[in-house]
Amino acid sequence: MERLLHLRREIDTVDGQILDALARRRQLATDVAAAKDESGGPLRDAPREERILAALIAQGRDRGLDSHFVTRVFHEIIDDSIRAQQLHLMPEYAGADLKTIAFQGIEGAYSELAGRKFFAARVDRSVFVGYPTFEQVVEAVEDGSADFGMLPVENTTAGSINDVYDLLSCAQVSLVGEEVLRVEHCLLGLDDAPLTSLRRVLSHPQALAQCMKFLAKLPNCQPQPYTDTAMAVRLVKEQQDPTWAAIASEEAGQRYGLKILKRNVEDQPHNFTRFVVVANRPQTVDPRIPCKTSVVMATSHDEGSLLHALNILHEYGINLTKLESRPIPGMPFQYLFYIDFEGNTAVPQIQEALARLRSATTSLKVLGSYPSRHRSKTAPQVQALAIERPPVPDLPVEPEAAPVSYRLVSRQHRREDTVIDVRGVKIGGPQFVVIGGPCAVESREQIFACARAVKESGGAMLRGGCFKPRTSPYSFQGLGFDALEMLAAAGREYDLPIVTEVLSPQDVEAVARVADVLQIGARNMQNFSLLAEVGRMNRPILLKRGMMSTLDEFLNAAEYIMDRGNHQVMLCERGIRTFETATRSTLDLGSIPIIKRLSHLPILVDPSHAAGRRDLVIPLALAAHGVGPHGLIVEMHPDPANALSDGPQALRFEDFAELLARIYQS
Ligand code: PEP
Ligand code: MN
Repeated sequence: MERLLHLRREIDTVDGQILDALARRRQLATDVAAAKDESGGPLRDAPREERILAALIAQGRDRGLDSHFVTRVFHEIIDDSIRAQQLHLMPEYAGADLKTIAFQGIEGAYSELAGRKFFAARVDRSVFVGYPTFEQVVEAVEDGSADFGMLPVENTTAGSINDVYDLLSCAQVSLVGEEVLRVEHCLLGLDDAPLTSLRRVLSHPQALAQCMKFLAKLPNCQPQPYTDTAMAVRLVKEQQDPTWAAIASEEAGQRYGLKILKRNVEDQPHNFTRFVVVANRPQTVDPRIPCKTSVVMATSHDEGSLLHALNILHEYGINLTKLESRPIPGMPFQYLFYIDFEGNTAVPQIQEALARLRSATTSLKVLGSYPSRHRSKTAPQVQALAIERPPVPDLPVEPEAAPVSYRLVSRQHRREDTVIDVRGVKIGGPQFVVIGGPCAVESREQIFACARAVKESGGAMLRGGCFKPRTSPYSFQGLGFDALEMLAAAGREYDLPIVTEVLSPQDVEAVARVADVLQIGARNMQNFSLLAEVGRMNRPILLKRGMMSTLDEFLNAAEYIMDRGNHQVMLCERGIRTFETATRSTLDLGSIPIIKRLSHLPILVDPSHAAGRRDLVIPLALAAHGVGPHGLIVEMHPDPANALSDGPQALRFEDFAELLARIYQS
């Protein structure tokens, strides 16, 4: 008892020290912003942030802290420093006076949550006032009854919020900020009645649109559009009818006393809404803050006039982040263009670009410059900790003399390597990428454990089969869409893009909605209807070599996918069937340099299915690394002896970590 008390007191002391250190760090960050910056360089220095984080991860490891934990904690701390610095440079937000912030809806609406996030540092000096419509929010800002307004402009699932765009074109307000909110919808009801007894689900039409697939699965249940998500919650509470439910935030449920019947009912796991903050006059943003500018313009009806206008921005090296068109009311087939770009109107070069743009358009209105909300976090790959390895010299990439039957995949069509970007992980470039994970997703615990081990060891992506192509119909066939949900959750938790096999053309669309990369297995390499279907998707494909396929057949299979329009194909050598029975397949390593000569597509190696036995996986992986592929895909499992599929070839976590250490530190 005595000892417990002592330990608790010590924890309290450490917590106090952590708080002191956090406050001191925030102050130092503010001092950095205040110190006169001779170079005038940007506030944020991404390479420096990455170096700092990489060093912290290494130091954390020495102290027994895992990299995932260290990364999370320091992401928060770095974010806080950036916010503190911005606040210092933007006195409009920092003042001691009370500010009124208008939003559409009632308390608990997503717009209010976004406002609370944006104004977090002055939330105690802010009053949030809900208005029934977007127009009223704008009017309140225009007439000065509110200092700021929060307006949603786009959602990553349901698209642009047209009403707001149309309002912005004529409103007398300026954009002074943006906020991005991760929208996690809850189905909220009166009690724990089964979902099948629901007859009516109320929410804002945007929220209903974001949960369409989920709603379609509820039998005899009607979605009912309503003014606002939080108002839907309040109405359901008032009605006291257990067959009614609402879709809204967890906070709205708490505020009005509804129970969460199901969390995360949005169709897309990465569901974000972007809001703009408006005020009745423009602000000047310190040029050191990464900034965006929004404009709305119209061009003449002449041919090429839009292109001409965009070319001006291009000439000034301005990066567009959004281009949206809206019909001009009363002028059929004429459009207004909304453009967001990286840049600050306080910078002379941007002023010059805008002056030129003005002369190339029939109207141009600058909506404002505002600090951009960085969604991309500092993300040092664990590889950053390792010494760079000199690349394996490639065969010369002279196009083959012999005529080939494929076209789009060949070097003759495209000389430079194709680099595929999977949520920031680049495959086909100089980085060597390792994908790890179990053969099949077996449970939430199993896939979360694998994801953690992949992340900790320096893997870049998570694999896991949900639909398994098994030789025997009596073998484990995979947990299907339930597994896909678990895989997606694990990928989100550990910030790893996910790869999974799709077996049937009917499933392609649904799997593509969740998975970052669709795998076509060896047994399906020549399933031409499946290839055509994934060719229609805008998702990277991992195409495995059929176990009885020549390289020509392999590349033609990739051609099927590319021919349908999907050019994001990565190839995977996983061994072919020979007369040899000592290994599951024979790993054809000669294919790697040959494919790199014939095709511009990235090529990976799967040593696991080639070997079929654990003792050979590491040696084959190291040998493969020597012939110059762009990465590996390797099976691992927390308990290989009890794996439901391919246990004999699964690496244990420690083997996987050792393999990566040997690759990245060799
Ligand atoms: C797999 O990756 O789990 C798989 C079934 O591989 P392959 O198609 O190469 O046999
Ligand atoms: Mn397998």
